[in-house]
Amino acid sequence: MDSLRSFLDDLPPDEILRVSEPMSLDFKPTALVLELEKRRRFPVLFIERPEGGDVPVVANIFADRARIASMVGVERSAFNDAWVRAMEHRIPPVMVPDGPVHEVIETGEQVDAGRLPISRHFMQDAGRYIGSGILVCKDPDTGVRNLSFQRMQLKGPNRFGVSLHSRGHIWEHLQRAQARGRNLEVAVVIGAHPAIYLAAGAKVAMEVDEFDIAGALLGRPIELVRCRTIDMEVPAGAEYVLEGEILGAEQENEGPYGEYTGYSTSRSTRNVFVVKAITRRAKPIFLDIIPGYSTEHLLLGRAAKEAHVFSRLKEVIPTLKALNFPKSGTHFHAYMSFRKSAEGQARHALMLLFGLDAYLKLAVAVDEDVDVFNEEEVLWAVSTRFQADTDSFVVPKVFCNRLDPSSVDGMSAKLGLDATAPLDWDVERTSLPQEALDWANNLINRGG
Ligand code: MN
Repeated sequence: MDSLRSFLDDLPPDEILRVSEPMSLDFKPTALVLELEKRRRFPVLFIERPEGGDVPVVANIFADRARIASMVGVERSAFNDAWVRAMEHRIPPVMVPDGPVHEVIETGEQVDAGRLPISRHFMQDAGRYIGSGILVCKDPDTGVRNLSFQRMQLKGPNRFGVSLHSRGHIWEHLQRAQARGRNLEVAVVIGAHPAIYLAAGAKVAMEVDEFDIAGALLGRPIELVRCRTIDMEVPAGAEYVLEGEILGAEQENEGPYGEYTGYSTSRSTRNVFVVKAITRRAKPIFLDIIPGYSTEHLLLGRAAKEAHVFSRLKEVIPTLKALNFPKSGTHFHAYMSFRKSAEGQARHALMLLFGLDAYLKLAVAVDEDVDVFNEEEVLWAVSTRFQADTDSFVVPKVFCNRLDPSSVDGMSAKLGLDATAPLDWDVERTSLPQEALDWANNLINRGG
C-alpha cells in the first residue's frame, strides 16, 4: 500500500538525517532545516524522540527537486512531462473496507489533538500549527472531493483555528454550506504518500478530484477508507486523520503565522475546525512541513505550478527549454529559457507568463545556453545581454497575491526583462574543448 512509510523505506539512507537525542519541537526543527539550507543541504529530517511524546516526526521531505520527482517515480528532468501525462490520464481511487489508519479510533472525550507532536515553527506564530494537513472536503452540490492545504492553529483538545485565505475550492464549498445554515465536513490527513501531497497542491478545475491525479502520478489507484464520524473518504495508509467540521456560523481570531513570503501575517479568514474523531495507525509517524520561506514549503507549492505553466507556455512557445520559479522570488519571480527565432518573441513569451500566473512580478527571458536553475547565470545574462531602456517593460496595477507585503490594494506591477541576445549578435562565449573537460572531471572524480 502506498504510504508515507513506503516512500521513506525506499529512500537512500544517506538522504535521511536522523536525530536520536531528545529534541523539543518548539523552533528546533525549523532552525535545523534552515541552518542546513544555508549549507546547501536538504536531507529528510527524522526526529526519533520529540520531547514529551513517543511519536517520531518527519520533516523536509519536499526540499529537493530530484526527491520530488522520485515521489512519482521519475528522474528530475522528466517531472514536468509526468505531471502533464497525469493530468490527462487520471486514475480514480478505489474503496477498501479497512486500513492501518483505523488501527486506533478516538472519539468524543477521548479526542485530544494537543497530544499530537505539533511544532511551533516561528517566534511570531500565534501557537502550535499543523501545516502538513491535507484538508479533504466535498462540493455540497456535486459531491466532488477537494484536497488542499490550509494552516491550522491548535486552540484546544478538539479545536483549531483555520485560514482559507487562498480562497480555493474549499472556500467556495464553505460559502455554499453556510448559505444553507450548515457546517462543512472536513477530514484532515496528516502523513500519506507524498504523491497525494503533490496532487493536493495542484490548481485544477473544481470538477476534478485530486485523488484521481495522485493515482495517475503513482500509476495505480489510491486506496481509500470511509471516515467513521463524517461522510468522507481518506487514504487507508495515512498516519493520522482528524475527522471534523469547519463551522459555518462561527469565526474567531487566527494567526499570525509565518507565510511563504518570509513574513509573519495575521491575514486570515478566521474559521474554526472542530474535531469529532482522531483515527491513526497504532504506531504513527507525524509528518511536518517546515513552513514560511523554506525550500520545502516553496518547492511543494510550486512543483505543480511550474509543470502546469511550463506545459501551457510550451503550447505557444514550442522552443521553450526550461522554466524556474527561483526561491529568491518566493512565488513572485520566474526565469525562462528558449531558442529565439525572431525579435520580439521574448516579450511575447513574458506576457504569456504573466498571464498564466498572477503571483508573478518579475519574469526574465534568456537564451537556451543559460541555465535558469542557476540564478547567478541568469543574472550574468542580464548583465551582458540586457539594456534597461530598451529591453524591459512594466505593466502597472495588475491583480496579484495579497501576501506580498509591498502590494497595494491587491495589485502589483509586472516587470519583464528580455535578456536574450539579438539574433545578429557577433559576440562569442568563451568555451573549452570537450576532451579537456572530460580530463578535468576524471581527475576530480579520482579525488585529485
Ligand atoms: Mn479542487
